[in-house]
Amino acid sequence: MIPQTMRAMVLERPGAPLHARTLPVPTPARGQVLLRVAACAVCRTDLHVVDGELPDPALPLVPGHEIVGHVIAHGDGAGRHPIGSRVGVPWLGWTCGQCRYCRADAENLCPSARFTGYTLQGGYAEYVAADERFCFALPATYDDVHAAPLLCAGLIGHRAYRMAREHPFGGPVDRVGLYGFGAAAHLIAQLAVAEGCEVLAFTRPGDAAAQQHARDLGACWAGDADQPPAQALDAALIFAPVGALVPAALAALRPGGTLICAGIHMSDIPSFPYRLLWQERSVRSVANLTREDGDRFLARAAGVALRVDAAHYPLARANEALDDLRQGRLQGAAVLLP
Ligand SMILES: [Zn+2]
Ligand SMILES: [Zn+2]
Repeated sequence: MIPQTMRAMVLERPGAPLHARTLPVPTPARGQVLLRVAACAVCRTDLHVVDGELPDPALPLVPGHEIVGHVIAHGDGAGRHPIGSRVGVPWLGWTCGQCRYCRADAENLCPSARFTGYTLQGGYAEYVAADERFCFALPATYDDVHAAPLLCAGLIGHRAYRMAREHPFGGPVDRVGLYGFGAAAHLIAQLAVAEGCEVLAFTRPGDAAAQQHARDLGACWAGDADQPPAQALDAALIFAPVGALVPAALAALRPGGTLICAGIHMSDIPSFPYRLLWQERSVRSVANLTREDGDRFLARAAGVALRVDAAHYPLARANEALDDLRQGRLQGAAVLLP
């Protein structure tokens, strides 16, 4: 029995808090599934959307793109995920399938792509409709709260990590610096350690709790982001939305090393001397995800028992969860429970 209405947290105007609203339960369109939301993690991208740092959200908007839900209805033509099955809905919600990027296994760059909780309605709600082709089956070893952060923090963090490790230049990539030790870094640190990497965690200066969290999860060193490491890094991944970390991380890289900016938004990057980039260092960004990224990461997560640190909040307290993330009060991820 599907109710007519649901509770949702809604962004009506960027820069203002979310409002608790009663909305109609969505009707799944052709190719969509209707999900009863079990958990939805809070991503830093949600903060950028709510704070008005990303253009043209689909207002009024239900944010949230790390959704774990159970299939309760199929739109016409849908059937890939049976009624009752548990699936995850990530940030990438729809692509055209025809453009040069879609045809080149780079659907993350599709110019017509639609994004969950940004240009499509998301998971800060009791129900959500999603294109079944973009929903993932989830490893059974993670319960709803602990599976939710895998869907962006884990998945896009893994894309950044793979980008650094799979195309090594100037020797192997075994010594990896993580800048910003939040939801993504706490998962990627564990994968990197499991794969034999040395992980160094760079946090906000003086953030002893984040530094201890990093050491607890296997980092061989954790300290302030304005401190250079004792030995140069093979790769650096920046998860914090702080442009000033780009020259700092470049200065920490060995010749031929790679710096990956993993977030969707960053403050301006200050100018820096060319010598920091010279010697064939490179700077790249990661944008979005492909469905193949999801399949690969979730298979890894099924094989390595990741410790997912998650603080959960009732859906109605979404603003509090966003504020805790904004103020750096979380170790790991925040997860909303409807
Ligand atoms: Zn496309
Ligand atoms: Zn995200």
